[in-house]
Amino acid sequence: MHWTDLRSDTVTQPTAAMRETMVRAPVGDDVYGEDPSVNALQARLASDLGFEAGLFVPSGTQSNLIGLMAHCQRGDEYIVGMDAHTYKYEGGGAAVLGSIQPQPIVHAPDGTLPLDAVERAIKPIDPHFARTRLLCLENTWHGRALPLDYLAQARELCDRRGLSLHLDGARMFNAAVALRVAPREITQHFDSVSVCLSKGLGAPVGSVLLGTRALIETATRWRKVVGGGMRQAGMLAAAASYALDHHVARLADDHARAARIAEGLQGAEGVHVVAQHTNMVFIEVPLERHDALRRAMDAAHVRLSIGYTQAIRLVTHLDIDDEGAARVVRALRSFAAGGESAPT
Ligand SMILES: *Cc1c(COP(=O)(O)O)cnc(C)c1O
Repeated sequence: MHWTDLRSDTVTQPTAAMRETMVRAPVGDDVYGEDPSVNALQARLASDLGFEAGLFVPSGTQSNLIGLMAHCQRGDEYIVGMDAHTYKYEGGGAAVLGSIQPQPIVHAPDGTLPLDAVERAIKPIDPHFARTRLLCLENTWHGRALPLDYLAQARELCDRRGLSLHLDGARMFNAAVALRVAPREITQHFDSVSVCLSKGLGAPVGSVLLGTRALIETATRWRKVVGGGMRQAGMLAAAASYALDHHVARLADDHARAARIAEGLQGAEGVHVVAQHTNMVFIEVPLERHDALRRAMDAAHVRLSIGYTQAIRLVTHLDIDDEGAARVVRALRSFAAGGESAPT
C-alpha cells in the first residue's frame, strides 16, 4: 500500500533517472580528492553560489558541525537561534565535539534573529567570556525565507563587529525559489553556507559546505576526524548533481501544493492551520485528539509527525503529487468531521 508521507522532505526516493545517473557515475577515492563526480559537484556549487571551494559530506548535521569547527576554536562562541537546527536538533555537536559555546537568541516570528539582540550578546574581550566569533542563521526557517535586506544588515553587523557569518541553508534553494531570486542573492552575504541535497531536492544522501579555500581545507580535516571521509562517494555526488540539474525549479510545485493543502484545510473544525511557508504547513489539533489523529492518519495511509511539537508540520516534496496533496486534505477534513478512518 502506498503511503503519503509528509513527515519531512527527507523521505524522497531517488527517481529512476537519478538512479541511472548514479550507476554511470565515474568514481575515485574521495579521501584522496580523486573522485571526479564529487569534485564536479563541489566545483559546480562553489561556482554557482559564489565561493572558492566546496566539500561534500554525508549529512547537513556534519556540514554545520565541521563548518562551525572551521570557524571557531575551543572556547569560542557562536550566536544562533534558540530554535535553530544547529543549536537544538544536532545533539549539541558544536559544544560536545567542538568545545564551541552556543549563545542562543530568541527568533522573531519571521525567523530572523533581531540584530539588536545579536549585538547585545557579543561578549567583551575579557578572560571572563567566551570569544564571540560567529553568527549562524538558518534559511528557510520553519519554511520562512529570510528577507534579503535582513541578510545584508546581518552582514553589515558582522563586518562591523568582526564576526563571521554562517548559513545553515539546508533549504536555501526553497528560499531562493520562493523569493524568485538567484541563490547567489542569498549566499553572497555569508562566509560559509551549508546546503542539503537530500531534502526537497531528492538526492538520497548528502550536503555540501561552501566557503573560502582555507576554510574548506580546515573543514576537510574535521570531516576526516568525525568519520565523514567517504571513498567512492561519486555515486552519491552524481545523484546530488542530478538533483541540482532537475529538481530546483520544481520546488515551486512543492510550495504551490503546500499552499493548496493550507487552503483546503480552511474551516475544518479542530484542525487549525497556523502557518504555511514554502513547502511547509503547520497545523494544530487539540492535544487530547492526537491519538485519534494518529489512528485516523494510519487508516488513511498518511504519515505525519505527530507528537514532537505542539504544531504538527506537514512537508511537501518530490514524492507528493497533486493527488497526494488532495488525499491529505481529505484525510484531515474527514478526521475533523469526526470520522476516524478516512477514505484514501
Ligand atoms: C535537515 C536539516 C539539517 C541537516 O540535517 P541532516 O539530517 O543531518 O542532513 C540542518 N539544518 C536544517 C535546518 C535542516 O532542516
